[in-house]
Amino acid sequence: MIDDLAHIDPEIYAVIERERQRQLQKLEMIASENFVSAAVMEAQGSILTHKYAEGYPGRRYYGGCEFVDTAENLALSRVKELFGAKYANVQPHSGTQANMAVYFTYLQVGDTIMGMDLAHGGHLSHGAAVNFSGRLFKPVTYGVDRQTEEVDFETVADLARRHRPKMIIAGASAYPRALDFARFGDIAREVGAYLLVDMAHIAGLIAANLHPDPVAVADFVTSTTHKTLRGPRGGLILAQEQYGKALDSQIFPGMQGGPLMHIIAAKAVAFKEALAPNFRSYQEQIISNARTLGQEFSKRGYRLVAGGTDTHLILVDLTKTGLTGQEAEEALDLAGITVNKNAIPFDPRPPKVTSGIRVGTPALTTRGMKEGEMATVADFMHQALSNPKDSASLSRLQGQVRDFCAQFPLFAEEWQV
Ligand SMILES: *Cc1c(COP(=O)(O)O)cnc(C)c1O
Repeated sequence: MIDDLAHIDPEIYAVIERERQRQLQKLEMIASENFVSAAVMEAQGSILTHKYAEGYPGRRYYGGCEFVDTAENLALSRVKELFGAKYANVQPHSGTQANMAVYFTYLQVGDTIMGMDLAHGGHLSHGAAVNFSGRLFKPVTYGVDRQTEEVDFETVADLARRHRPKMIIAGASAYPRALDFARFGDIAREVGAYLLVDMAHIAGLIAANLHPDPVAVADFVTSTTHKTLRGPRGGLILAQEQYGKALDSQIFPGMQGGPLMHIIAAKAVAFKEALAPNFRSYQEQIISNARTLGQEFSKRGYRLVAGGTDTHLILVDLTKTGLTGQEAEEALDLAGITVNKNAIPFDPRPPKVTSGIRVGTPALTTRGMKEGEMATVADFMHQALSNPKDSASLSRLQGQVRDFCAQFPLFAEEWQV
């Protein structure tokens, strides 16, 4: 085609092609990333991007919304069925926007919120000083216990009694163990706080009933759609029914203009995929792969934060290797393995350096890798971490990684509905 991307904008075309090769040839182990199905990609790249649809299905501020209304209604009914929720909003552009909507609906500037410390695995939008949530509200943070490296509920309860937060936020970006949302619910009710569960990382596990359920015990549940849930990049809100009307008007017209109807349609496709029986086996495989990878790392002498994992990710403490997280990230990258450096609890090093790496299995599992491949992957990683300055051996390793990856297609048929 004369008007296709390669002709109109060869520079951007080249970016996409190079990125495609990177995704194909490297081991993608960033815990928050995944590969969507061809069907999700098709909906997301569709002509629905043309449509303005401010408002909600059946009550829009624009004409011609009869077909996109159906898309949004399908997304809503599917996500409610998936998580057993009475209310949902699928318009948030991202996970952070979803959190912002909940805060802006039920908090006043200056109110106290209580979330997990960023340095212990929490998310920026849970009250970090550099984020709007830390600037507009008064953050109190809880962390993990020094010994167990798991959330200590005695401390959470103590802090809640002392600071009387208006909202408690449960959820994390770098926490390998299951979170007991019911305990958070008990504490929130005791101190008269709202409970917001941010399930961004683990939404897929929850959809498959492989992680304690937040929907029954929280006032609000927010999520991204692009992590373990394996949909397009975006956000969503679930809540108890009585909060629905106020949350809807906070998203629109309170915070956003037109919803991204192509993304909402792609969310609907992803929710349909998540409702299909093979989604549960996908999520089981993610967890089993993470557990196996953790065991393989332990065998090779690495220490795992919290002693292992119940989820899709492990946190590897590199202290004994003498490597920083930053050095490990760089060495692995040269070997064709993509991870991110990550603070370990009570990390003495600054956040740009850190003493650990966060390693996740959702994307590799989508490519069809299983327990056996995790041993191979751990071997590749161990080789890179053992020779972090040897650029010849790292580049040889990158060749081996590329050959290995070639056996696992990006849009694996077996994972599609
Ligand atoms: C990823 C993440 C988010 C933010 O999602 P964005 O779409 O990047 O804004 C929010 N909360 C948690 C716990 C996350 O891990």
